[in-house]
Amino acid sequence: MRMTDLIEKKRDGLSLSSEEIRWMIADYTAGLIPDYQMSAMCMAILLRGMDNRETLDLTMAMLHSGEVLDLSPIAGIKADKHSTGGVGDKTSLVLCPMVAACGLKIAKMSGRGLGHTGGTIDKLESFPGFSTALTEEQFYENVNRHGIAIMGQTADLVPADKKLYALRDVTGTVPSIPLIVSSIMSKKLASGADVIVLDVKCGDGSFMKTPEQAETLANGLTHIGRLAGRKCAAIITDMDQPLGFAVGNALEVREAIDVLSGRERGDLLTLCLALGSCMLTEAGFAASREEAERMLLEAVRSGRALDKLAEMVSAQGGDASAVYHPELLPTAPVQLDLIAESDGVIARIHAENVGLVSMKLGGGRATKEDVIDPAVGVVLRHKVGDSITAGENLASVHASDEAHALEALSTLRACFEISDGPVARPPFIHKIL
Ligand code: URA
Repeated sequence: MRMTDLIEKKRDGLSLSSEEIRWMIADYTAGLIPDYQMSAMCMAILLRGMDNRETLDLTMAMLHSGEVLDLSPIAGIKADKHSTGGVGDKTSLVLCPMVAACGLKIAKMSGRGLGHTGGTIDKLESFPGFSTALTEEQFYENVNRHGIAIMGQTADLVPADKKLYALRDVTGTVPSIPLIVSSIMSKKLASGADVIVLDVKCGDGSFMKTPEQAETLANGLTHIGRLAGRKCAAIITDMDQPLGFAVGNALEVREAIDVLSGRERGDLLTLCLALGSCMLTEAGFAASREEAERMLLEAVRSGRALDKLAEMVSAQGGDASAVYHPELLPTAPVQLDLIAESDGVIARIHAENVGLVSMKLGGGRATKEDVIDPAVGVVLRHKVGDSITAGENLASVHASDEAHALEALSTLRACFEISDGPVARPPFIHKIL
């Protein structure tokens, strides 16, 4: 086969055969197809699209480009969750212990943060001693024994995606639905879970800007998941403002602990109940979403969900006392408040820019090699639709020194838009598919 022929075929709007797709991905992963030809192919796919059969073939070819986890040593149904990424997204830290406390096993591989979005692995490493570098055997053992384990992605999982994603990032070809679907689903399928629940974000802080675009992506993801024989559900949620209140690693862990302790409610709990009830119903653990929500709320009320987080932290080498005494988590030496200059109603909190403020404080990475500071970040005191009065605290920055804190305060002010008139609270859950 010749790559030039395949590029021309896709350029002219024709479908690639299963064999052509398998050959292309295998040879690209092996270094036999140069980046310039693969770039042209990605652009042709972005402009011409792929049908469902091609997208499934692409997903399966990528999935088989490396290691595929076999979770059969773990008894029972295993569930996993994926988020398309956002600012302040600490959902896994709350959702996974809640669901595991209801008896459904969580076997989850997570990533690190890059740019303005955070990663679950970085957040969990705020617990002193916590390790996400488990061997496969330790991973299986922990899920079997504790019902939950979260580990970093193994180096050999979907190598085709590592190469392709890096290429798409620099060739303007990230926002192609078949390329996003195959990238996300190849990794989720390779991780082996039976039930996969997807949180597809839309809005300013995510790469799908409208609910319609997010729905197209969500339909593509669930369709491929189901064709591959997994139980799949997706929820489309708002990312026009950060999720919850905290943005920054240890700060987000504290907020997760507050929700698991029943001290904090709001959009984060709403999202975890929605995702968790999809997981429990898809797995057959509850007959309806209402019943599943009652089970999840009971897990919080009884303290079992918080205990499950402590059990996981301890099983992965971390200091579980920080779960019950969050003051033991890393704390930034400098904390300054952002004070409202006038009365009004919060019309907008620019999610992506709040994420960038946290990143510049040291809470995120500009490049993969950057070392992050778990203590720093931003804590919002209000959300869109809240009335505020002059002199009130809008948010706090947590910084390693005064210079960083002052710089962050001025950038953070520009993230808020204050209106004179009333502002409707934006819808948070757009749709459950
Ligand atoms: N996340 C992924 O893993 N892949 C994409 O293509 C986009 C978001």
